[in-house]
Amino acid sequence: MNPAATVTAGPGRPPAELLRRLRARHHATDPVTHVERVPPRAGEPAPWPQWAPEELRTAFARRGVVAPWRHQSEAAELAYAGQHVVVATGTASGKSLAYQLPALATLLADPRATVLYLAPTKALAADQLRAVTGLELDGVRPACYDGDTPRTEREWIRRHSRFVLTNPDMLHHGILPGHAHWSGFLRRLAYVVVDECHTYRGVFGSHVAHVLRRLRRQCARFGRTPVFLLASATSGDPAATAGRLTGLPVTAVTEDTSPRGGVTFALWEPPLLPPAADAVVTDDLTQVRRSALRETADLLADSVAEGVRTLAFVRSRRGAEVVAANARRALDEAVPGLGERVAAYRAGYLREERRELERALLHGDLLGLASTNALELGVDLVGLDAVLICGWPGTRASLWQQAGRAGRSGDEALAVLVARDDPLDTYLVHHPEALFGRPVEATVLDPANPYVLAPQLACAAAEAPLTAADLDLFGDGAKEAVEGLVEAGALRQRPTGWYWRHRERPEVDLRGEGAAPVCVVEAATGRLLGTVDGGSSHFLVHPGAVYLHQGVSYVVDALDLDDGCALVHAEEPDWSTHARDVTSLSVVSVRSYLDAGPVGLFLGEVDVTSQVVSYQRRRIASGEVIDTRPLDLPARELRTVAVWFTLSPQSLAAAGVEAADVPGALHAAEHAAIGLLPLMATCDRWDIGGLSTAVHPDTEAPTVFVYDGHPGGAGFAERAYRTAAGWLTATRDAIAECGCEAGCPSCVQSPKCGNGNNPLSKPGAVRVLDVVLANLPAAASAPARARPGDGGPATDASAPASASAPASTGTDGRTGSVPALPRQDRTPTGSTGDHG
Ligand SMILES: [Zn+2]
Ligand SMILES: [Zn+2]
Repeated sequence: MNPAATVTAGPGRPPAELLRRLRARHHATDPVTHVERVPPRAGEPAPWPQWAPEELRTAFARRGVVAPWRHQSEAAELAYAGQHVVVATGTASGKSLAYQLPALATLLADPRATVLYLAPTKALAADQLRAVTGLELDGVRPACYDGDTPRTEREWIRRHSRFVLTNPDMLHHGILPGHAHWSGFLRRLAYVVVDECHTYRGVFGSHVAHVLRRLRRQCARFGRTPVFLLASATSGDPAATAGRLTGLPVTAVTEDTSPRGGVTFALWEPPLLPPAADAVVTDDLTQVRRSALRETADLLADSVAEGVRTLAFVRSRRGAEVVAANARRALDEAVPGLGERVAAYRAGYLREERRELERALLHGDLLGLASTNALELGVDLVGLDAVLICGWPGTRASLWQQAGRAGRSGDEALAVLVARDDPLDTYLVHHPEALFGRPVEATVLDPANPYVLAPQLACAAAEAPLTAADLDLFGDGAKEAVEGLVEAGALRQRPTGWYWRHRERPEVDLRGEGAAPVCVVEAATGRLLGTVDGGSSHFLVHPGAVYLHQGVSYVVDALDLDDGCALVHAEEPDWSTHARDVTSLSVVSVRSYLDAGPVGLFLGEVDVTSQVVSYQRRRIASGEVIDTRPLDLPARELRTVAVWFTLSPQSLAAAGVEAADVPGALHAAEHAAIGLLPLMATCDRWDIGGLSTAVHPDTEAPTVFVYDGHPGGAGFAERAYRTAAGWLTATRDAIAECGCEAGCPSCVQSPKCGNGNNPLSKPGAVRVLDVVLANLPAAASAPARARPGDGGPATDASAPASASAPASTGTDGRTGSVPALPRQDRTPTGSTGDHG
C-alpha cells in the first residue's frame, strides 16, 4: 500500500492549532507578526422592497434568494428613488442583486424602459447575461452587444432588447458613434449599470470617464437622465471615485451584511538570512530574507503533512510551479510517495482537466495545490481548510477573494499572508491595521488628463457638435482642450458650437497607453515569443540583453525601434544584464503647492527625459559585475504629472544628515516612497517613476520627485499629493521598522533602479522623512484611511489643500513660476532617477 495513503484528508484541525504547529516548526525567531481573528458573521436579511413585483421575487426565489441582505436592499432603494449609487462590498456579497433588483423591477413596471449594463470584459458580460436570462422574465429580452455579436443579430438587439450588456470599448467604438441607430433605446434608458467599476483606473479609467460623459450627453439630447448604478470591489472612498468616473454625485453603500465563516488570518514574515547563506543572489545585497516562495513551499508541505487541504496562491506561473515542486520534494523526503498529493495549477487548463482537479481535491486524493490567481476564475473549489498567499496580491479585494477560498460550508479556516522581500509587503505585515481596518487603496483616475480629454472631445464632437454647456459636462481643462483642437484644425468654431472637420471619425483606443509594444522574435525561426511594453523595451530588450521568456533564456541580437521588434536567439549565458539610464526632469508648471517652512510640497507638470546608456553584465551565481557596456539608444521624453517635496539644506544638517549623505538619503526615501504609493492608490510601482537630487535647478533645493509613468499623468501623483502625510508616514515607518542594517529590497532598494541602487542611505532616508513629516500639517495622521461617504479629495484629513492647512497653501493656475526655497550651498552631485 502506498504510504501516502497514511495521510488522510481529515476534518481539518482547528485553524489556531494548525497555526501553532506551523510556527513552532520553523525558525528561531517567530515569523508571525500578527494574528487576526475574523469572526463569523451572520447575514442580515432585509425584507423585499415594497415596489419589487411578485414576479421578480419568485424568479429570485427559484435561484435560491429568499430575501435580500440589508446592503442589497439599501442600494436598491436608493437607485429606485433616483439616486446614483455605488455598492462597494466584498466578493460574493451579492452586488449583482443590488442592481438587478431596481433595474429589472423598472423594466417590469414600465414596458418601454431600457437598461444598459457595462462590464470591463466580454466574459463577465456573458456571465451576467446567463444570470439575467435565467430569471426568465417576460419582455426583458436581455442580449450581449459586443465585438462577437453577429451582424445579423445587431439590429434586432437595438430594436427589441431592453437589457443590453456590453463593454466600454463597444460603447465607445460602436454604440455612441452609431447613436442614430440607438435613439429608440437611449431615449428610454432608465439605468446604466457599471459593474466592477474599480477596474477603470489610471489612463484607461480616465478614458472610460469621458465615454460615460458622452453617453450622458446623448441621453440628454432626448431629455433622458438615466440613474447610474455602480458596483465596485471594496476600495477607499468609492463615492468620490464613482463621482469622478461618472461626473455625478454618487452615494456609496459599503457595509457588507452577507454571512461568512470565521477566519484565523496570520501575517508571516520570512526571517533575514545571514549574508550569502542562500543561493538566491540579488543586486549587490548584503542581506536578504528567506524567499517567500521557499517559505510558502515549506508551509504547504507541513500543512499537507497534517492532512489539511491547502491552497497556495503565487503571483507568477513559474513561482507556482516552484512552490509545488519544492513542497513535493519536502513531502517525499518525509514519506516517500506523499509528494503526489500536491499539484500545480495554471491558467489554460481544459475544462475537463479542471473538473478532474476539483474532483481530486474534493475526495482528498489531492491535498495541496499551488496556483496563480487564474484560480479566481473558472474553478469551483469547495472544502479547503487553509489558504497560503505568497506575497501581497496587490489589493485588499484580491486578498479577501483568495482568503475566501478557505472554509467549507461556514467552517473555521486558516489564511496566511507570506511577505515578499519588498517595502510594501514588509509594511503590511507590520501594520495589520492597514489590512484589517478599513479599506486603504482608492481607485485612481484623472479625467482632466489633457492626453485623454482632447481625443475624447474630438470623439464627442464627431458624434454631435460641442456646445458651451458641454464644456461643463467634460469638466476641468475642457475649454483649453477644445481651443487646442481648433488650433490644430480638428474642430471648427461656429456660432452654434464646435464642429468636427473631417469625414472620418477620430481614432482613439481606450486601452492604448504610451509607446507601442515591441515584438520579441526568434531570429532563426521567425517565431513571435511575446511582446514587451514599449515603455520598458529599452531596459529589457536592448542589444545584448538576456531576456527570459517562460523560463527559457534568450540573448537579444538587435532592437529595431522603427519596426518595433527585437531579434533574439536562444542562449543561456552565466550572466544577467542590468540596464542603466540617465534621467533628467524639468518642472513645467506648478498646479498646487504647500509651503511648510523648511519643507515644500508640490504638484505639477514635468518633462522627464530618460536615456538608457549602458548595461552591466553580472555573474548569476555570485552577482559579481563582469563589465559595463555602452548602448546607443535615443533619449525619450515624457510630459506628465509629478508630486515632489523639497527640504532646506539647513533642516537636513540640523537633522544630522551630512552633506555627503544627502544624495543617498534622498534616493533611498524616493525608492521607498514609490514602493509604498500603491497603499494609497491602485497602481503598482511600475506605473510610477522617481528622481531625487541634492540640488535641482528648478527648485534650487534637495528634492525628491515621484511622477506618473504615463503621458499626461494617470492620477497617481495627484493622489500622493493629496495623501502626502499618510503616504510619507507609511514610507518612513516601513524603512525604520525593517530589521536590516544598511537597506534591503524590503525597504530602500528598488528592483527598477536606473542607478543600480547607488547611492543609498537607509538612516538618512528616515531622517529626511522625519524632517518632512515634522513640518507637514496633519503629519501625525495615520496612513490614509478611506472614509466612506467623504465628499472627495479636498476633505481628506491629510490633504495639503484642505481647509485646515495653513494659509500659505496655494495654487497658481498651472502658469506661475516655481516657488523656490532659500538658496543653499550647492552640493556637487548628480541626480538619481528611476524610470516609470
Ligand atoms: Zn531593509
Ligand atoms: Zn534609484
